[in-house]
Amino acid sequence: MNASEFNARYPVGTPVYAYPGCRPEDDPNDEQLVTQTRSKAEVLGGHTDVVWVHGHSACIALSHVDVAPRTNTPDVVAHGEDGVSVTRTIKLKRACNGCGQALGDVDNRDVDAHGNLTDVRHECPFCRLVVELERQGWRAWFLTERNIGSVDHEADKLGVYAKGYWQQVDGKLTVVGLRVGTGESRVVARFGDWIAVSPNGSWAVHAAVAS
Ligand SMILES: [Zn+2]
Repeated sequence: MNASEFNARYPVGTPVYAYPGCRPEDDPNDEQLVTQTRSKAEVLGGHTDVVWVHGHSACIALSHVDVAPRTNTPDVVAHGEDGVSVTRTIKLKRACNGCGQALGDVDNRDVDAHGNLTDVRHECPFCRLVVELERQGWRAWFLTERNIGSVDHEADKLGVYAKGYWQQVDGKLTVVGLRVGTGESRVVARFGDWIAVSPNGSWAVHAAVAS
């Protein structure tokens, strides 16, 4: 990962493991810091991507920095001796920007320098693929009841016919998603699926795993 990719994902303060000397796979006894970034990443001397971390004065090459895995602390429910009172201890959880599933505890990586939420879809097992597609120039939407109208409109603008996809639900004909295109090349996305269009105009669906 280069400096600009790193900065796009990880704000200053992101928890990291840093190896000033050797990476642990090269020398397990060399210094390993469990710390946080204290600067943005930058390109040093026009050739090496580096970042500064707390607890070490010099910069460290990004090849020697691993972003720490997100912790996930379960809620703890304690019952009082009276048998009635209940104390619940929770750690605030981060939801995926795409599908909304909880990814783990909130920490410094979740808010950027302007107070905005970072994009953590690359951490999500379901949405990770979409981040990669967007990098390749695809446009993608996580289809919901709320945005089906605007996705339909985007398809229209690209000259593709789209309409609601209807199915019987509990004996009633109901819109359950969006149909895009006609004939062989048509795709159907249900609410909770990703629908995406490639730079050359072909549509694809990344379907949620049926629960
Ligand atoms: Zn997701």
